Amino acid sequence: MLFFKKRNRGNANNRLVSWKITSNCLKLICECAKSEYPNEFGGLLRVDSEKKTTINEIVLLPGTISGDAHAIFRMHMLPIDFSIVGTVHSHPSHSAKPSSADLQLFRKHGKVHIICANPYDSGSWKAYNYNGEDLAMEVV
Ligand SMILES: [Zn+2]
Repeated sequence: MLFFKKRNRGNANNRLVSWKITSNCLKLICECAKSEYPNEFGGLLRVDSEKKTTINEIVLLPGTISGDAHAIFRMHMLPIDFSIVGTVHSHPSHSAKPSSADLQLFRKHGKVHIICANPYDSGSWKAYNYNGEDLAMEVV
């Protein structure tokens, strides 16, 4: 029994990493989203240097265009930085559901993606994996 349990766990590759985000970083995301409203804001998620699974910083891209449409990430402006694990952006609407453009972005860039929807509080954001599936993320 133990053997099978172990093997099953090993197969669930995506679930091996349990992602966390610091409450300060989450607060900052909400603040950025609020200040950009009714536009979107976009940024990158950076993890701590030790465990590399706790998101503790957001990096705002210099060339990010925000407007009524979805935030466009200029990924070619990205520094080569392996501490960046994914993206974050806000939705002026109340839905944190990824759009089809979001899903394309998720698949290309990174493993963890956060969408923060209006009203930009602790209950209005969601995390997704590269495939746009819900990702459990603990606030620490
Ligand atoms: Zn979006």
